[in-house]
Amino acid sequence: MAVLDINEKILDVVANADIIFWPVAMDIKYKDVEAMPDKYIDVCFFNGAIRTEEQEHMAKLLRKKAKVLVAFGSCACDGCVISLANLWNKETIFERAYSETPSTKNPDLVTPKTSVKVKEGELKLPEFYDTVKTLAQTVDVDYFLSGCPPPVPLILQAFEAIFKNELPPKGSVLMPNKSICDECPREKKDKQLSEIKRIYEIEDDLKTCFWDQGVICMGPATRAGCGAQCPKVNIPCTGCDGPGPLVTDQGAAAVSALASIAVSPDVINQVVDPIGTFYKYSLARSILRRKVMK
Ligand code: SF4
Ligand code: SF4
Repeated sequence: MAVLDINEKILDVVANADIIFWPVAMDIKYKDVEAMPDKYIDVCFFNGAIRTEEQEHMAKLLRKKAKVLVAFGSCACDGCVISLANLWNKETIFERAYSETPSTKNPDLVTPKTSVKVKEGELKLPEFYDTVKTLAQTVDVDYFLSGCPPPVPLILQAFEAIFKNELPPKGSVLMPNKSICDECPREKKDKQLSEIKRIYEIEDDLKTCFWDQGVICMGPATRAGCGAQCPKVNIPCTGCDGPGPLVTDQGAAAVSALASIAVSPDVINQVVDPIGTFYKYSLARSILRRKVMK
């Protein structure tokens, strides 16, 4: 749906390309894609992380049918917020969703099965995996364009590069090679940090770097491209554009930034929800990837 954010420019896209598979906008079935010859699709923008057998099947199928595969959006590139589910596994997620939640009435503790026989025949559901994966952890990916959603100017740039046949080398991220801080107008004084605050605890002046006001901002660990739109309107960056250039692990890079200005190691203990703060969009792609369940 993020592609529609380009508004009337979609007409340029349609003028230059035949859209042959777009599940949210077109009525096309999987069997239609399966019937396409291999490499029939010039460029495929794939959004969404991989959590189920069906998503894995579609990733592998579209990889086969497309010449160029672009991981589009934070879910496909980094796992995004849904990969915070990697702090649990299938069993504990089902337990919570189908048994523990106050609104659930399920005395027989029925949970989804991959196959069930009814009088009309056998019904099948795709398997629900323990771990959310990124697209690149599932199939070979040619390009990456992250963001939740991807910034509109970058979507347009990607289309332009495709139409002019000017795509960069395989494996490139179709985003600027700098961090959100490079796009942010706030003044940074690199003050020492003794107390971590939530955004509602400060009177933001819209000029001073959030770190200097005691608020964690993922800007230093996050790739530019959105124009630092959140810090410009009184919201610290939460990191949706994914790890910045030269950053392997977005959360570790932010923790390292915190460690470099904290007056003592105890400061990190003040972070409410460390995984949700440092790995909000990138747990699946991180070196931690998931919690070990014993
Ligand atoms: S840390 Fe955040 S507020 Fe500070 S300069 Fe970077 S993006 Fe702006
Ligand atoms: S400032 Fe950060 S959270 Fe906001 S859109 Fe940009 S990358 Fe995403």
